Amino acid sequence: MRTIRGRLAVWYAVALAGTMFVFAAVIYLVQRREEFAALDERARLESELIAATLSEAYRARGRLVMTDRQTGRDVLQPDVLPFLESIRGYVVVVGPEGNVLHLSSDARALPYASLVRLLGPAFEIGSNPSFGVVDAGSPVGEIRYYARSITAAGPRIAGVLSGASVSGLAIGPQRLLTAMLWVAPVILAASVLVGYQLVGRTLKPVDRIVDEVEAISDGRSLHRRLAPLRTGDELARLTSTLNAMIGRLERSFATLHRFTADASHELKTPLTVVRSGIERAITHPRVTPEVLEVLDETLLEVNRMAEILDSLLTLARADEGRAPLHLEDTDLRDLFAEIVETAGILGEQASVAVEVEIPAEPVPLAVDRGRIRQLLMNLLTNAIKYTPAGGNVSIESACSDGNVRITVSDSGIGIAPGDLPHIFDRFWRADKARSRSGRRPGVGLGLAISRWIAEAHGGSIHATSRLGRGTVFVVTLPIEGTAIEREAP
Ligand code: ADP
Repeated sequence: MRTIRGRLAVWYAVALAGTMFVFAAVIYLVQRREEFAALDERARLESELIAATLSEAYRARGRLVMTDRQTGRDVLQPDVLPFLESIRGYVVVVGPEGNVLHLSSDARALPYASLVRLLGPAFEIGSNPSFGVVDAGSPVGEIRYYARSITAAGPRIAGVLSGASVSGLAIGPQRLLTAMLWVAPVILAASVLVGYQLVGRTLKPVDRIVDEVEAISDGRSLHRRLAPLRTGDELARLTSTLNAMIGRLERSFATLHRFTADASHELKTPLTVVRSGIERAITHPRVTPEVLEVLDETLLEVNRMAEILDSLLTLARADEGRAPLHLEDTDLRDLFAEIVETAGILGEQASVAVEVEIPAEPVPLAVDRGRIRQLLMNLLTNAIKYTPAGGNVSIESACSDGNVRITVSDSGIGIAPGDLPHIFDRFWRADKARSRSGRRPGVGLGLAISRWIAEAHGGSIHATSRLGRGTVFVVTLPIEGTAIEREAP
């Protein structure tokens, strides 16, 4: 169960099943105690009644026991038998020598082993009356009885035992279990269903909050806030806490962007001064070859630094929403024509064949020409940079569904699948060790800027790659008049 909703529904059902079980057990135990007490009381009253009736009959007639001529055993006078037979359950009347004077019809119907067990307590009747339970075995089960002595019914009658079986009670464990087995699955299924619906309803605002936070937390929508809840419950508190947190995030992001933008901007002027100083020093007539070499290297680094500052400033302004696009009507073929020469020169230097496939038909775009040129050049220079000598790089385009897809492919070193999700991150480079110089210099800002440019034009950029085989970048841009609003100049 991966969702809270599913887990809660299951816990709800488990809790309900537990409660049902405890409830049934308590009902069963309480009911059983009461029914046992009623059974005991009935046995006591019956015994008292038998004792009183036999005593009364003895007082009236003087003789209650006679000897059966056929068996030679003592039995009760026939005229008291109808009364004794009218009493339900197990009745045993015993004489002083441990002889049985009377057995009720229920007692006579008992299997022999059960009868022997029942007679045990009847033969042990003492002067004190007593309650007891005897296990009469299958199929009768337990018999609860009351046994008492009879002193006023003559010397040949010693006592009486009256009892009843517990198997006839209203609630037996078997019956309860059967009832629960029928009812429990229905109740459980219903409770899981109801619980699932209920929890789903309760968690709906949480789902909404998650969706909204997801939409906000992409970094560019921090000005948005969650819709406040007026319920006054935990979720309302969560919403206001999240709103406060987003507010703080927005402020710190703004401070960070402002700082990066200001720092880059402030550093640009002194860097320009340094650059012009170096350039002047290089052209000085008395400069020695050793100094010239140092100055050349320094100028290279200064230029690189200027490039980084420029990229940082672009991204910081984009983050702040202060990097407007200057849209103008353009034909993609013109843009391709502008880059073909530079790309050719770069390819030649790196011994990589560069092929620019200029579209046969016009492809009208409303874009910031400078930015799109920058985007295409970023992709092309990367493609050439990461393709060993002898490889190929190509750029082509295709139109479909109101979009133009520009594809930059190379036969270069490729990107590892684990690296692919990170290539558009700022300052991310696959080979960090060779970032400053060497064969493939760079700082890892080019693709971050490229993505911003594509998305700012209402398009997208994606990469696919196979390590050692090459990489394909696809930029999708809307064709003029299809997706983006023209910006007022
Ligand atoms: P960099 O200045 O390092 O080129 P980018 O942002 O342009 O910065 O690229 C980020 C990283 O993505 C590069 O360091 C490189 O590891 C990888 N990468 C970009 N383009 C390609 C490509 N065509 N082939 C292989 N790897 C590439």
